[in-house]
Amino acid sequence: MIVVMKIGATEAELEHVCKKAEELNFTTHIIYGKERNVVGLIGIEGNKEGVSLIEELPGVDKVVPISKPYKLASREVKRESSIVDVAGVKFGGEDFVVIAGPCSVEREDQIVSAAVRVKEAGARMLRGGAFKPRTSPYSFKGLGEDGLRLLAKAREATGLPVVTEVVDPKDIEVVDKYADMFQVGARNIQNFALLTLLGQARKPVLLKRGPATTIDEFLMAAEYILSENNRNLVLCERGIRTFETATRNTLDISCVPVVKAKSHLPIIVDPSHAAGQARYVPALSKAAVAAGADGLIIEVHPDPEKALCDGAQSLNPSQFAVLMNEMKAIAFAVGRRI
Ligand code: PEP
Ligand code: MN
Repeated sequence: MIVVMKIGATEAELEHVCKKAEELNFTTHIIYGKERNVVGLIGIEGNKEGVSLIEELPGVDKVVPISKPYKLASREVKRESSIVDVAGVKFGGEDFVVIAGPCSVEREDQIVSAAVRVKEAGARMLRGGAFKPRTSPYSFKGLGEDGLRLLAKAREATGLPVVTEVVDPKDIEVVDKYADMFQVGARNIQNFALLTLLGQARKPVLLKRGPATTIDEFLMAAEYILSENNRNLVLCERGIRTFETATRNTLDISCVPVVKAKSHLPIIVDPSHAAGQARYVPALSKAAVAAGADGLIIEVHPDPEKALCDGAQSLNPSQFAVLMNEMKAIAFAVGRRI
């Protein structure tokens, strides 16, 4: 249910609506809009009497049901697109934001040089995994807190905010100490304990779609974070598993316009994990810009051949710089700025 306030309704009227709704056992979430504010009401279905009471309160225009299973993520609740600020970098506005860096943090010179080179080419944030979810338990699983320290050094050297994955709820605290944004990996999209705790954390979250997640399930996972009151959420399409084996995953480019229609949340694309091979990354990146994505997260390694993780899909810094240049014209054509 959403309570749509009248244009010009006062803050006191808004607070009164929340107070009354909570007395009627609804959970309330205020969503501030440019024109008018709304209050999302989550509670017992069919509380008709409560709804009629709220509809009569001063400042209330109408109370309307939300048809989607996800409420706070839905465009029904918030018509304008959300802008998510990560240490000054804004997702969802005019800027098309590119995050770049290696799959995993390996050594100081590796992550610092990656950061310097991607920044030179126009990246706005640095990526790098310190805790890596790996398909095989024998693969390199990241440097843990040492990796986080190296990310902080790379941020110090370049000023780029960092995003890094948190795999396990027990690591939230340590990741929070160093990162500017939490990444939830594709494999953890339905780790509801992790999503709930990240909703309670205040730092922004980058939520990756799972390889077998429908768009509705993706938005329900987002709802877990939003319903705990963390509104700083950016979604990421990274390819899904299909019958096609020519690429590592199949980039579901249609996810971008569909999410944009259903939700107010920003969505970026990860062409690297979709493609699995560096040669396909430029084309998928350009497709993402054209489809209306709010940004990209791309794997870039100073020396992909020597990468400990995902070298085959990583661009080298020169390839990345060329791609950044090529995307500018496409961004301009769709009203965005790189
Ligand atoms: C990653 O970003 O390095 C990663 C592991 O991605 P995903 O969770 O999408 O597989
Ligand atoms: Mn990777």
